[in-house]
Amino acid sequence: NIVLEPGAAALLDALHRAGFGAYAVGGCVRDSLLGLAPHDWDLCTAARPGQVMELFGEDRCIPTGLQHGTVTVKRDGKLYEITTFRTEGRYSDGRHPDSVAFVPDLREDLARRDFTINAMAYSAEEGLCDPFGGREDLARGVVRAVGEPLRRFGEDALRILRLYRFAARFGFAIDEATEAAAKQLAAHLDCVSTERIEEELNKLLAAPQPGAYLEPEVLAFVLPELPPEELTKARRRIDALPAGTEQVSARWAALLLPLGETGARKALKRLKCSNARIDGAAVLVRECGEKTPDTLDKCDLCLQAKCLLGKYDLHTVQQLTALWTALAPEEKASFDALRAEAEALTAQRACCRISQLAVNGRDLMAAGAAPGPGLRRVLEALLEEVITGRLPNEKTELLAFAAGFSAS
Ligand code: ATP
Ligand code: MG
Repeated sequence: NIVLEPGAAALLDALHRAGFGAYAVGGCVRDSLLGLAPHDWDLCTAARPGQVMELFGEDRCIPTGLQHGTVTVKRDGKLYEITTFRTEGRYSDGRHPDSVAFVPDLREDLARRDFTINAMAYSAEEGLCDPFGGREDLARGVVRAVGEPLRRFGEDALRILRLYRFAARFGFAIDEATEAAAKQLAAHLDCVSTERIEEELNKLLAAPQPGAYLEPEVLAFVLPELPPEELTKARRRIDALPAGTEQVSARWAALLLPLGETGARKALKRLKCSNARIDGAAVLVRECGEKTPDTLDKCDLCLQAKCLLGKYDLHTVQQLTALWTALAPEEKASFDALRAEAEALTAQRACCRISQLAVNGRDLMAAGAAPGPGLRRVLEALLEEVITGRLPNEKTELLAFAAGFSAS
């Protein structure tokens, strides 16, 4: 019941007709069996990279990682990674295997993969190739290492984080021997590059309910900044937030809240997060620290929402209200109302900041106001009038008020 995507099917077909074994492999097979739409289709083949390039033509091929056997092929505007069957040596730089050896046999290629659910291949001719029981593990909802777990985590410690990431993504259990090995070798994560760790943590935090998969014995090595006694509460906060890649900054904030803004920034910087990620999470940590939900003034929802939108974009306001709700679930109704208000104001294009006023400094000067810092004070006063609803955001009314304001 795997339906190959047409582009992937056409590439596999071309490889077969040229006499090479070729299969869809890894995530796309796993996701198809789960009834999910794969986000990309990775292919593997007995053909060597040079042969793949020759078959599809240099202009359609990007030599992504020739020494590791990967060629990216363009087809109908989409990109497909085609990787030659291979085995791998150790990952001493924690990023790339030291050596790869191309092999003629699909089974050997599947044996180098991390987990049984990721070690299946499919072709229309041969159907599913599943030498390690991946389909059964999918059905049972278990993530299990291919082969001897201690050896596999010893080869590449990043697999320890991948274990929790995949388990969290699907809400799966973890095979006992696999988890024992992951905990035993967690200290090896020290050797893995920060970039790879950060990427895995982001993916883990995007999962539906990652709380239970934030394993203290593992987290201690990738996020030593977080005091272990804070973890239980942090897990609960994280699980209370919406999931998905757009929510990862809020989940970082929920995790790093005990560190305060400065501590959170430091930890994210050490992890080499992007500036957008650092700022996104830090703003949320700061707001949660400054204004705890119970001191939030709920008397004027509209004003409150406008003040927030004056400082932050809607997405941040949405994340903030979700975070406040996670901190004080009993106040959920008020935070939901606040978020709904912010959404409605945004839809109406309501004016919440100086830049959204119907007049700017130039308009004021054209109407006779003196240039200088006084202009800023006039604009602030205008914003105040508009936000509180005492004036409409219309040029003539604003200019009239400004004339009176400057005179007074
Ligand atoms: P996603 O949907 O998150 O991309 P994926 O299964 O495609 O999931 P990738 O990280 O893109 O995951 O890797 C593709 C495949 O390569 C995996 O399914 C797995 O078979 C193999 N793989 C990736 N990284 C490793 C690793 N560190 N050790 C062993 N096998 C790996
Ligand atoms: Mg992938």
